[in-house]
Amino acid sequence: MKSNLKNSEETLKPKVCPRCNSENIVDIVYGYPLPETKEKASKGEVKLGGCGIYDGMPIYHCKDCGYEFGGKRSRFAHFIDQD
Ligand SMILES: [Zn+2]
Repeated sequence: MKSNLKNSEETLKPKVCPRCNSENIVDIVYGYPLPETKEKASKGEVKLGGCGIYDGMPIYHCKDCGYEFGGKRSRFAHFIDQD
């Protein structure tokens, strides 16, 4: 049985800012942050994106120029209420 889950996270990761070519990129974490996520955020290892989940939200944050980019990631699907 084939899984519909695509193992695309790695290929989706540009990890280079499309605006300034910086590699100083962190993930944007959406939803209510876990304690360890908050700790990572305080260290600048991730950026908290807040609880708002919307279509097409950025998933990466450039720490050099502040640009946010990326795309939809399937791991957010379970956060999204379909109506
Ligand atoms: Zn940048």
